[in-house]
Amino acid sequence: MRLSRYFMPVLKENPVDAQIVSHRLMLRAGMIKQSSAGIYSWLPMGFKVLKKIEDIVHEEQQRAGHMPMLMPTIQSADLWRESGRYDAFGDEMLRIKDRHDRDMLFTPTAEELITDIFRAHVGSYKDLPLTLYQIQWKFRDEIRPRFGVMRGREFYMKDGYNFDLTKEAALHAYNRHLVSYLRTYERMGLQAIPMRADSGAMGGDNTHEFLVLAETGESEVFYDSAVTDLTFGDRAIDYDSVAQCQGVLEEFTTKYARTDETHDEALFNQIPEERRRVARGIEVGQIFYFGTKYSEALNATVDDGQGGKTPVHMGSHGIGVSRLLGAIIEASHDDKGIIWPEGVTPFHCGIVNLKQGDEAADAACDGLYSALTNAGLEPLYDDRKERAGGKFATMDLIGLPWRITVGPRGLKNGVVEVTSRRSGVSEEMTPEAAVAKVAAIYAAL
Ligand code: ATP
Ligand code: MG
Repeated sequence: MRLSRYFMPVLKENPVDAQIVSHRLMLRAGMIKQSSAGIYSWLPMGFKVLKKIEDIVHEEQQRAGHMPMLMPTIQSADLWRESGRYDAFGDEMLRIKDRHDRDMLFTPTAEELITDIFRAHVGSYKDLPLTLYQIQWKFRDEIRPRFGVMRGREFYMKDGYNFDLTKEAALHAYNRHLVSYLRTYERMGLQAIPMRADSGAMGGDNTHEFLVLAETGESEVFYDSAVTDLTFGDRAIDYDSVAQCQGVLEEFTTKYARTDETHDEALFNQIPEERRRVARGIEVGQIFYFGTKYSEALNATVDDGQGGKTPVHMGSHGIGVSRLLGAIIEASHDDKGIIWPEGVTPFHCGIVNLKQGDEAADAACDGLYSALTNAGLEPLYDDRKERAGGKFATMDLIGLPWRITVGPRGLKNGVVEVTSRRSGVSEEMTPEAAVAKVAAIYAAL
């Protein structure tokens, strides 16, 4: 993409209404535009990152054996009356009437609808286990939408639902989700710590939230600093193996890490003092096992193979896909702008032409552009007639992890400059070596 043709309405001034850095930077980099409170348009660059995050979530869910599908955003109130949540959800539910005066709603989550699909089509234990998921827009009429996409009213969420014959099988599904979530967040360059949480209105007592540590986080968290040393890395895991998934769960959840709702001061004080941490975190996901709560309420049963019928054991598992943009920026920025992790960056590499109109510089940039593109990468070429300082400031603001700078002086010696956004370190090399270097970084992801 050539920057001169791209729609990226960068703001020069800091927006006054943005209280936290991720919101400020998303507005300044022209990624989103508010349309009404807590509701945003996703401009091309914001949309690109949203899709990258969504792609990672899809890949990791399918790697774990979960099946993608899509349910409607507008649902009838009937099912929600059946489960008892139509009233329980309160003012957060956006209620709508259609022209026939029927009660409809914009889905805040989809336990009822998925359970209805299940009860219509699945009747036997032989069809289990089953895990279905979607990535779909949700609406919750939050009392205080704020912090940009972090607490929106309309937001993009992955919600997955497992159906199992027994509690043991459903707990395996729970563990499998925990493992897949660890992989998902790490691929986005994030450390998200599973913490024991409160199940609230969802019911059930097995639940973990995944929290990204950040001063601007809305949750107060308490943990043993040893949990921040744990990484999942690129270990191979067999998602069908009960023992392996259980092993990962134990490794990542045995040390103390809790949200304020479940915090236990006495237990916390058993951690050596120098390892006790009280901090803030952003909730980027949550997994639940809630047993037969919805299957009993909605009569979702299967033949148990012994002549009886039994309600299925269920869990639901969410990832805040749109919130993740904010969380990633909170965790990865400096005073000049965003620093995208390679896994989610909107463009793989920036190309800065220091002297647009100079024949050699223009030709070298065009050459780099096609070589990067042929290597399967997406460069963003700043081909505007602007001062070098302005071009660098824009690249730093939008945070592409790698920048190749091309100028007539370097070209006389046959070199361009490759700069890491994260470290700020620059290296001179031939254009061919620059392409090979950037390509190798992404090939290793
Ligand atoms: P919160 O406690 O932050 O209100 P929640 O626990 O009600 O969130 P869940 O029902 O667990 O949310 O939804 C799954 C995920 O969706 C959350 O972990 C979070 O990342 C994301 N999410 C929830 N509410 C919002 C929102 N208003 N805006 C953006 N993302 C959200
Ligand atoms: Mg939650």
